Amino acid sequence: MTDVAAWLGSFERALADNQPDLIANLFLETGLWRDFLAFDWTLATHEGRDAIAEFAKSRAALTAPSNWTTEAAAGASEGLIAFETAIGPGQGYVRLVDGKALSLFTMLSDIRGHELPLRQRRVSGLIADAEGRNWQDLRQADRDTIGVSREPYVLIVGAGQAGLALGATLRLLGVPHLLIDKHPRVGDQWRSRYMSLTLHDPVWYDHMPYLQFPDHWPVYTPKDKMGDWLELYAAAMELDVWTGTELKSARPTDAGWTATVVREGEERELKPSHVVMALGNSGFARIPEIPGAESFRGAQYHSSAHRGGEGLAGKRVVVIGANNSAHDICADLVEHGAFPVMIQRSSTHIIRQSTMTDVMLKPLYSEQAVEAGMTVERADLISASVPIRLQEIGSRQAWARIREAEAPFYNRLEAAGFKLDFAEDGAGIAGKYLRSGSGYYIDVGACEMIVDGRIALRSGHDVARIVPDGIELADGEHIAADMIIYATGFGAMEEWVSRLIGPDVAERIGRCWGYGSGYRGDPGPWEGELRNMWKPTAQQGLWFMGGNLAQVRFYSRLLGMQLKARLEGLVVA
Ligand SMILES: Cc1cc2nc3c(=O)[nH]c(=O)nc-3n(C[C@H](O)[C@H](O)[C@H](O)COP(=O)(O)OP(=O)(O)OC[C@H]3O[C@@H](n4cnc5c(N)ncnc54)[C@H](O)[C@@H]3O)c2cc1C
Repeated sequence: MTDVAAWLGSFERALADNQPDLIANLFLETGLWRDFLAFDWTLATHEGRDAIAEFAKSRAALTAPSNWTTEAAAGASEGLIAFETAIGPGQGYVRLVDGKALSLFTMLSDIRGHELPLRQRRVSGLIADAEGRNWQDLRQADRDTIGVSREPYVLIVGAGQAGLALGATLRLLGVPHLLIDKHPRVGDQWRSRYMSLTLHDPVWYDHMPYLQFPDHWPVYTPKDKMGDWLELYAAAMELDVWTGTELKSARPTDAGWTATVVREGEERELKPSHVVMALGNSGFARIPEIPGAESFRGAQYHSSAHRGGEGLAGKRVVVIGANNSAHDICADLVEHGAFPVMIQRSSTHIIRQSTMTDVMLKPLYSEQAVEAGMTVERADLISASVPIRLQEIGSRQAWARIREAEAPFYNRLEAAGFKLDFAEDGAGIAGKYLRSGSGYYIDVGACEMIVDGRIALRSGHDVARIVPDGIELADGEHIAADMIIYATGFGAMEEWVSRLIGPDVAERIGRCWGYGSGYRGDPGPWEGELRNMWKPTAQQGLWFMGGNLAQVRFYSRLLGMQLKARLEGLVVA
């Protein structure tokens, strides 16, 4: 039986002989080759033998790959691989079925001559400056001049986790950049969220790049602690952040960009070569227009304006929506003695936090995984090695098992009238998250409150109108309320482009996020990778950075290398 080492040998020979058809024949008919910057300067998955042959034909000679090795054991049908290209070292993963590749993942890990100065490449720290300046003097000079007497090569708009992770990579790669954020302090985006919020994913999954949480860190980080950590991260990674600075507009020019920003009340122009939108996918509060809203006598606001349930004891609160924020806010209201009613229009996917932590993430991101020698880098590489097409299949299989194992929990919820779904194709949270980033709740306790009635639920009906003392549902039911909270979600990332750059550029770029699955919130055609994220877009010099903490950790390095390659004038087409 062909094992990984033997397969790699055949693959290497076919590449060296420049034989696209032979290369394609090493894959299953439905085989997948996911490549992140190693063979081409983008993130793409090539599906099926024809597409693989075409990809090999156009890119193999330019890439000049060599020195393929694997650490897979003899006889193994899958494992990690390493190789070299004309640009630098690469890593990846092969999965074989009956001796043919079900999937191959190849990724550039460094640019030769411009490697990240990590571990054995770290700088000495001894400074021999002709003017006798020490680290502090040089750091201060850097800070004082960027955006003032020196233009940043990259302007990163938004200094949340996404902007900071990319900034850290660019700092290490020596790419002149500036981060701006309209908040007064780094971390305020997390601080400004409701009081009860803690991260829903466990600590092993949430490390920022290059600087991991210490070993005593709680499993689920409280939101203010996360904000403080990001502020500390910005200092430790020596990031230049202009806080209190808002991007008002940006226009592409022949040389790059003209960006108009307002820094503490003063308007300035910056002229970067590249603009990275790291503005988050929770930026625009989305509030539906409901007839009669202006007649309501009590307070009404979007979930992003909810700070906590203090002072709301005894209040009747209608919460419109049934995803993450709606559940978290309802639970918070219960804990503060208020009486929430959740209005669920359409079905929601629920995953219990324990399932997320102890079943889904455990093999790669857990204390047990760490003890077994798993590093975050290796875990991220293995995760990325699964093309989205296979992720869908794996998720459907995993969810079929989970639904059965946790049937009593889901049955109780349905008996309480809750409308459940597991994504249209049964792919669960991964499907929902990658397709639209919405439509789910990671259960940290609100579900039991729905089951026992502490959170009242009205399911399957729209709000027909708002009246002075409450709401009326489409079936005519009147629900009295002292307050209304709209947990109705956020606008999409591309809306930032329309508002800040212009509708023409927004139209050229198209949607961000989603991979063309054809399921709800993610129309086709199939693209196989997230649209416009962390890779070149249709607008030269415009990039998108974002995602959850695990995604920004992994993709910040890939986006950083793409920007470095352009700064150094390497061939990028
Ligand atoms: C309630 C809630 C809970 C979440 N829980 C988790 C979780 O547990 N785990 C997880 O991984 N993810 C979670 N997420 C999702 C996601 O990770 C967060 O939304 C995260 O904050 C996204 O990081 P970001 O850097 O992409 O964007 P943000 O953190 O939103 O940062 C964007 C920054 O851009 C700035 N900005 C916006 N407009 C401008 C402008 N014009 N000029 C300058 N600056 C601007 C903002 O001030 C902000 O600081 C949660 C999201 C929400 C809403």
